[in-house]
Amino acid sequence: MGRIIKGFWDCHHCGTTGIGGDLRECPTCGKARDSNTTFYVDKHKSTYVTKSINRNPDWICTSCSKLNSDDVDSCLSCGTPRTRNSLNYLQNRRSHEVYGRPYDYGDSDEESNFDFTSENIQKTECSHTSNDSATWNRNTILNGEEFSISEESSFSFGEAMKSVFTKKRVITILCIIGAIFLVAGIIWLMLPKYEEITVQEMSWKRNIDIEKYQTVSESSWVLPPTARLRYTNWEFSHYRKALSHYETKTRQVERQRISGYEEYVTGHRDLGNGYFEEITATRPVYETYYETESYQEPVYYDEPVYQTKYYYDIDKWLYYRSVVTSGKDKNPYWGDTHLARNERVSSQNESFFIVGINDKDEKISVSLSYDDWNMLKVGRLVKLEISFGHGKIVE
Ligand SMILES: [Zn+2]
Ligand SMILES: [Zn+2]
Repeated sequence: MGRIIKGFWDCHHCGTTGIGGDLRECPTCGKARDSNTTFYVDKHKSTYVTKSINRNPDWICTSCSKLNSDDVDSCLSCGTPRTRNSLNYLQNRRSHEVYGRPYDYGDSDEESNFDFTSENIQKTECSHTSNDSATWNRNTILNGEEFSISEESSFSFGEAMKSVFTKKRVITILCIIGAIFLVAGIIWLMLPKYEEITVQEMSWKRNIDIEKYQTVSESSWVLPPTARLRYTNWEFSHYRKALSHYETKTRQVERQRISGYEEYVTGHRDLGNGYFEEITATRPVYETYYETESYQEPVYYDEPVYQTKYYYDIDKWLYYRSVVTSGKDKNPYWGDTHLARNERVSSQNESFFIVGINDKDEKISVSLSYDDWNMLKVGRLVKLEISFGHGKIVE
């Protein structure tokens, strides 16, 4: 048998709530509890009862509907004696569920239709939510009713947040400041600078790269289709991991085992007299232990791999020479390539520069597009937008 706790009831005459299950009369208006009264558990207020109590439900007076203890044989309110027809609290609650209202002694039809035997009561299943949000379960009913209360975990949210803040606050702020400076520096570097300069020198450079079709000697693990094979050789190519042997090693493994059993409360059974009985179950308690385990670890070695290597001649277009022209004037030109029959131009590029003096007497050297460069001449004052060494004339 589980431990007994005190329940509570509310007076529906004057609205007083949380009246102890040990009180038959409302302490405010003096009315006795009756067939409309519902007992409930308040998990914040309910206390264990140490004295021995009568575990039978209260009976309902057939005259005045007041609840009376199983200990008394006549109604404490009107004196009417207990009879065979006197329902108890639990049978009356069942009537609430089946008919949606308390049992009516005057209605003979319903009395004949419903048989309050224990078997009939046990088969009835339903659930509803009571005032204190507890869920009622009626799967197993033996001379009483059960319902379970969801467990409430206590967790101090404030305490946890405080410790997190004090530890990480400084580091977080420093990281944010560092990131701001880094981003600002990058933006500053990328932002174009403006300079007003007097052009002192203009220069240009043009370059043509020339390739030559030539025979080269190469070697490879695969022979290209156009190659002319000279010879092959059996050579070391690479290492591969090969299994040498196994070594027996040991390691600590974490395991779980049952260290004991604990009892926990799964719900409360309404005794129907202002008291509830705890329903308990047992569950295993686990502990962690460590075990030394031996295992086989493979040991590898580097095994050399040999393959056929091809040595061959092959004809290819390869960079051969450049034709560069440059000048410190405004007359750029491409150099003469004098291409031989086995030569071709692979690429050509040009760049244009100016050197000038700004108002702080600093020498500024920038590259320009051909169109901008061509608009300028020595002695001219020009405003430039410069980024990464390249200038653009600002209108
Ligand atoms: Zn009252
Ligand atoms: Zn009575």
